[in-house]
Amino acid sequence: MSFSSEVKKEIAHGRLAKVCCELAEAAGFFRVAGSLKPAGGGEIGLVMGTGSPVVARHFKQLFEGLIGEQMFISVAHRAGCVPPRWLELNLPPSQAGAELLARAGVISRKEGLLTAEKAIPASMTATKCCRKSLLKGLFLGSGSVADPAKRYHFEIITADRAFAGEVRRLMNSFTDIHAGVTERSGKYVVYLKAAEQVKDMLGIMDANVHLLAYEDARARHELRGRVNRFSNCDNANLDRQATAGAEQMMAIAAIEAAPGGLAALPEGLREAAAARKANPEASIAEIGAMLDPPVSKSAAAARLRRLVDWK
Ligand SMILES: [Zn+2]
Repeated sequence: MSFSSEVKKEIAHGRLAKVCCELAEAAGFFRVAGSLKPAGGGEIGLVMGTGSPVVARHFKQLFEGLIGEQMFISVAHRAGCVPPRWLELNLPPSQAGAELLARAGVISRKEGLLTAEKAIPASMTATKCCRKSLLKGLFLGSGSVADPAKRYHFEIITADRAFAGEVRRLMNSFTDIHAGVTERSGKYVVYLKAAEQVKDMLGIMDANVHLLAYEDARARHELRGRVNRFSNCDNANLDRQATAGAEQMMAIAAIEAAPGGLAALPEGLREAAAARKANPEASIAEIGAMLDPPVSKSAAAARLRRLVDWK
């Protein structure tokens, strides 16, 4: 099961303590996963789709509790879609469905006509408990979160730009969350890319078990990154060392070929040249340790530099 599915399972198994939050979560889910089936006489049917059996069962219970009528789950196979097995949650045409959506601010009745509302009603975002529940519903409906061992990414997909803006405002109403919106194949995606914010979002949605798993995976990921940086750094040092060593060997050869040879050098330099010549691959600190008396790395480096600059 993907990390995303696991997180959804944890959220779906959570308990909502208050009716206000149940309504907010139902509204969030319906907004991104549902559609209306007007049936005349003010009655409407509801259809909601999900790929997850856990999510389907959860919302069946939630909606039935709020509406007081039975709903039905049917299975559809969608060729060429991911996932191919799709679950539909249906409420047959009734007044109760319309009343629930009106209460949740998803539709309004204007002069007897039902109109879909683009905005999230202020009453639903006034308290933190409801804002959290609304986000849970949106995430369960069309959200996903990447496995932190691979990358840091959280997103909720929406059908239009205006509603994406509403979702973004909702997410950004929590401390230190800064969501972005991008367009992807005709949909508007509200996303987070920073590890810390994705982690915070799991906490906001009460996915606390996966918040810990996230922390853990992230720590391992970052440790791996640091180890790679260290070994790259080691390689770079070795390369620099090899280049410097080769320069010193060339300088020594040039001095040997000149009149007087190495004997023309002051004693300290002569010793350093002999040590380098005998140990072409030794580090500067190792060369320093070979001298008699031994000298520090920086003193050895100074002598080797003077060799290279010797004319
Ligand atoms: Zn609430």
